[in-house]
Amino acid sequence: MNLPPELIVYLRSSTRVAVLTGAGISQESGLRTFREARDGLWTQYKPEDLASREAFAQNPKLVWDWYAMRREKVRGVLPNPGHYALAELERRIPTFTLITQNVDGLHLKAGSANIIELHGNLQRVKCSECGRATVEWVETEGSVPICLVCGGLLRPDVVWFGESLPRAALETAVLACRECEIFFSIGTSGLVQPAASLAYAARNRGAKLVEINAEQTSLTEKVDFALQGKSGEILPALLSAAW
Ligand code: NAD
Ligand code: ZN
Repeated sequence: MNLPPELIVYLRSSTRVAVLTGAGISQESGLRTFREARDGLWTQYKPEDLASREAFAQNPKLVWDWYAMRREKVRGVLPNPGHYALAELERRIPTFTLITQNVDGLHLKAGSANIIELHGNLQRVKCSECGRATVEWVETEGSVPICLVCGGLLRPDVVWFGESLPRAALETAVLACRECEIFFSIGTSGLVQPAASLAYAARNRGAKLVEINAEQTSLTEKVDFALQGKSGEILPALLSAAW
């Protein structure tokens, strides 16, 4: 694989690295990206029409079932070499922050430690009334499980369209981007804000930008190094070239 020698040298000598990942990094684990997500029983629905408060208010069971299906899928897949390479990179770079838009928990499974899950996690739910989050609940036949504290409906603890990101997580992410020497944007179309602006937070403070994506995105022209291909192939190659 042809990797830019300048990038390899720079990565090896860097002490602060920030990484943003999106659905593309989990594609090689067998999870569909957002654009490919219309499968099976769910072909008739757009993810945008299921992942919102309005959708949940209108038909909570439909939304609950869609997430239950996604949760099941995630339980049946494993991290891929891209996830493992990032976990390994964290062990080599003194200050390493992994920011992910994914809700699949695969970075944690691969051994990454310093992770900011900007959009939450599928394996956790929270009460739509009192906000209490939990990883344990009692499934109920034909309806959505309820909160044991207040009786409100439980919903997945993920960020839906139209909702704001958890403030503390976002602030930590922005700080890491401002302070890094290299910023990686991996497997994300860069269309969802404010995650997409993190690259600019890094660049404005002088960081080198690297994109790893199977396709061109709106960020491609603006980065210092655009590596086109699969993250599960490029990341391990980059790691073994640098160390
Ligand atoms: P996206 O679907 O908009 O974009 C995926 C990007 O990954 C595309 O640019 C595509 O070219 C690229 N890609 C696909 N396969 C790749 C591979 N093997 N290697 C490298 N790049 C590859 O996803 P997004 O930018 O993350 O944003 C959409 C939203 O979707 C996010 O908010 C996220 O929470 C949600 N989502 C998450 C998951 C998950 O947790 N696995 C899955 C689907 C959607
Ligand atoms: Zn409650």
